Amino acid sequence: MSGTTVSARPPWRRAGCPQLGQGHEPEYIRGANATNRTDQNRRGCSDTPASSASVRPILQGRMDSPIMSAVPTASADRRSPRGVRLARTTMVQPDGRHVYLYGAFQPPPASYVAPLLTSGEWQQRWNPLRQEWVMYASGRQGRTFLPERAACPLCPSTEGHSTEIPASAYDAAVFENRFPAVRSGAPTGPLPPGAKPSAGVSEVVVYTDRHEGSFGTLPADRLDALVEVWADRCRELARRSDVRYVFIFENRGEAVGVTLHHPHGQIMGYPFVPPVPAIELAAASRHQRRTGTCLHCTLAADERRAKVRVILDQDGIVGYVPVSARWPYEVHVVPARHVGALPDSSSAVRRA
Ligand SMILES: [Zn+2]
Ligand SMILES: [Zn+2]
Repeated sequence: MSGTTVSARPPWRRAGCPQLGQGHEPEYIRGANATNRTDQNRRGCSDTPASSASVRPILQGRMDSPIMSAVPTASADRRSPRGVRLARTTMVQPDGRHVYLYGAFQPPPASYVAPLLTSGEWQQRWNPLRQEWVMYASGRQGRTFLPERAACPLCPSTEGHSTEIPASAYDAAVFENRFPAVRSGAPTGPLPPGAKPSAGVSEVVVYTDRHEGSFGTLPADRLDALVEVWADRCRELARRSDVRYVFIFENRGEAVGVTLHHPHGQIMGYPFVPPVPAIELAAASRHQRRTGTCLHCTLAADERRAKVRVILDQDGIVGYVPVSARWPYEVHVVPARHVGALPDSSSAVRRA
């Protein structure tokens, strides 16, 4: 097996989004179609959830259907969400993977056939020299690699081309990775000494149903929606008992290993706190005990006073190059006022 990796130093602490709100479930989809997706999207990003009167499940006929061989099932859960500012429809693929469609969407073609989770073995092994976990995921060897435009697995599904997204049009989508790096309940194969079963979740965030473009070219309303998607995923994953740290990221460019060009990012729900955030958490805790203040807020306030490395300071957001930057283009972006985690931020800050 070969694998990728991340590591941590036990004992582990819940981090990432530790103090997020208690249970929430998504609102079901609002009446939606491709022609009004932009308006739906804007409405979905308002500060308050849409009223139930505007909710019309367009896949209602399938809501209570058993899981079929190739057809995803939609969640029937319509409990009022807490903090959800964007409509979300939960679907379950025949292999058990969840798909979350945010905003408006149109159902997939009748010929839709869901792709299946890769086979393989997943483990995490303890490296006693480096004192860190190394993740093994043999199934990732077979993942889709730079497919032709017409074979993109993140584009909307069409007749004759079933993709990861069970919709013929959508605003934004998140799905459990078919080639996950970490995965709870996965087959392990024989476990060597110091190894244990993989745990956690790997998700893919698709920013738009348009193949061309990038995060940087998304229109403002789509960027607003994307931040809401991140906040929702962060909140939900942090509630899982098998997730200790939520990491939202995008690898951009083939040089760093991108295998699909459709605008997308990823979310890893790790079963431990990786080493770097663990160090940062410990440093922040020491700072808090010593001074009674937040380390991140202190650093940002110092930079705003110095006005030497600040490149952005508006609408409640501060962006600065840290004095000890480790990369040529390293920029730290933080709220001007203290916020514990992304889901705790105000709508205005997220939009900024
Ligand atoms: Zn695509
Ligand atoms: Zn702070």
